[in-house]
Amino acid sequence: MRHFAVVGSGPAGFYTAEALEKAYGDQARIDILDRFPVPYGLIRFGVAPDHQSLKAVSKRYDKVAESAAVDFVGNVMVGRDISVAELLDLYDAVILATGAPHDRKLGIPGDELAGIIGSAEFVGWYNGHPEFADLDPPLGGEHAAIIGAGNVALDCARILSKTHHEFEGSDIVSHALHALDRSAIRTITILGRRGPHQIAMTPKELGELAHLEAAVPVIEPHDFPPVEADDALEPGLRKSVGLLRGFADLEADKAKRIVFDFFAKPVAFEGDGKVERIVVERTVLDESGAARGTGETYHVPASLVVTAIGYSTSPIPHVPFGGGKFVNESGRIGERLFAVGWARRGPTGTIGTNRPDGYEVADQVAAGMPPGSTGDRSGSEGLKRLLTERGVMPSDYDDWRKIEEAEVGQARPGCPREKFVRVEHWLQAIGR
Ligand SMILES: Cc1cc2nc3c(=O)[nH]c(=O)nc-3n(C[C@H](O)[C@H](O)[C@H](O)COP(=O)(O)OP(=O)(O)OC[C@H]3O[C@@H](n4cnc5c(N)ncnc54)[C@H](O)[C@@H]3O)c2cc1C
Repeated sequence: MRHFAVVGSGPAGFYTAEALEKAYGDQARIDILDRFPVPYGLIRFGVAPDHQSLKAVSKRYDKVAESAAVDFVGNVMVGRDISVAELLDLYDAVILATGAPHDRKLGIPGDELAGIIGSAEFVGWYNGHPEFADLDPPLGGEHAAIIGAGNVALDCARILSKTHHEFEGSDIVSHALHALDRSAIRTITILGRRGPHQIAMTPKELGELAHLEAAVPVIEPHDFPPVEADDALEPGLRKSVGLLRGFADLEADKAKRIVFDFFAKPVAFEGDGKVERIVVERTVLDESGAARGTGETYHVPASLVVTAIGYSTSPIPHVPFGGGKFVNESGRIGERLFAVGWARRGPTGTIGTNRPDGYEVADQVAAGMPPGSTGDRSGSEGLKRLLTERGVMPSDYDDWRKIEEAEVGQARPGCPREKFVRVEHWLQAIGR
C-alpha cells in the first residue's frame, strides 16, 4: 500500500488524485488536503458566477472524492497546521496543488490608495471567498478601470455591467448582487499595455460583451493593425480579434460602456486619500513586441481600479520558491515532493490545462514507486493522530456535502445556491 497527500482541492489537485487512483487502484490511499472545508479552489472562488456550465466540472471531481481510495481532508492548512516535512514523513509522496491566490502588484506610485484592488480580492468578493466578504469595493463613482488584457479583466468588466436580471441562474453572493444593484458605475475602461493582437482574451468571454442588456463595448478602430495582419494569428486569437473589430461597429446606445483602451500603460494613480484617476502613458510596440512608453500621458478617471495582471503562489516554509511559484523541474520539487497546476506553472491556461499536468506528475510518482510496491508510511492514520494532538479538527467530504446542502437550501429562486461567506457559517453547517 502507498499513501499520497495532494495539497489543494482545486482542479490540479483533483486531476492528480484521479490520475493516482487510476494508476494504483486499491494499492494506494490518497488524501486531498485543503485549508477550507469547501473543495474545488477557483472553481468555487474564481470562475465567474454567471458561468455555471464551467463550474459543473466539479461533478467530475465529486466522483473522484467519492471513490474508495480518496479522502477529502478539509480545514487543514499546510504550512500552518502541518509542515511539508511532516507530510513527507507520513506519506510516500506529497503533491502541492495550492494554486496562485495572490495578486501581482503593479508597483507604481499611488498604488496604495483606497479604491485600488486586486482581481483576486474583487473576484473573491463576488464569489463568496470568506477573506474578501468585507471588501466593500467603491461602486459609488461613475468610472471604473480594469488593468489587464485577459479573461479575468473581462469577467470583472462583465460583472460590473450586468443587470440584476442578468444574474438570474448564477451563484453570485447576495452581498455582491445588492451592492452591484446600487452601483453608479457607467464607464468601465479596460487598459491594456499592448494592442488587440496581444490580448489573452478568448472568443467566448469577448462574445458575451456584445449581448449585455445595459452595456456596450466601445473600441477605437485606429488601434487595430490592417485587417490582413490577422491572417498570421493562431485561429483562437484571430477569432477574438475579429470580435473586437466588430465592437467598433456597435452603437454606444446603452447606459453603460465598456471601453477598450489599448497601448495604454498605467504609470501612477492619483487622488486625495482614494483613487480618482490613473495617469496613463501611450505606448507603441518595439521590434520584440514589448510595449515601449512614448512619453505622451493622459488621465483615465476611476474611483474603482481592479488590477488583473496575474497571480502568485503562497510560499510554504522550506519549499523552494521563485518567480511566483514553487521551483520545480517538470513538476518535481525534490525527493518525493511535487507541484501541479498554478503552483507549478504559474497562473496560465484553462481548467483543462491542469489535467495533463496532474497526470504527468502521477506518472512520475508511479515511475519512482510502481503500483504494487509497498512502503511503511502511516498516511491518513498518522495525519489524524498528529492533527488531534494539535487541536486541529479536519473536515471530510460528508461535511462538505452538508455545507452544500445548506447552501442549496437557502438559494434565491432560480439560483443554484447561496454560498456561505463566513468560515463560522461553514463550521455551523457541519455542527462545529
Ligand atoms: C478569476 C478567474 C476566473 C477564471 N475563469 C476560468 C474560466 O472561466 N475557465 C477556465 O477554464 N479557467 C478559468 N480560470 C482558471 C482556473 O480557475 C485555473 O486554471 C485553476 O483553478 C487552477 O487550478 P489549481 O488547482 O492549480 O489552483 P486553485 O484552483 O487555486 O486551487 C488551489 C487549492 O489549494 C488550496 N490551498 C492553497 N494553499 C493551501 C495550503 N497551504 N494548505 C491547504 N490547501 C491550500 C486552496 O484553498 C484551493 O482549494 C479562472 C481563474 C481565475 C483567477
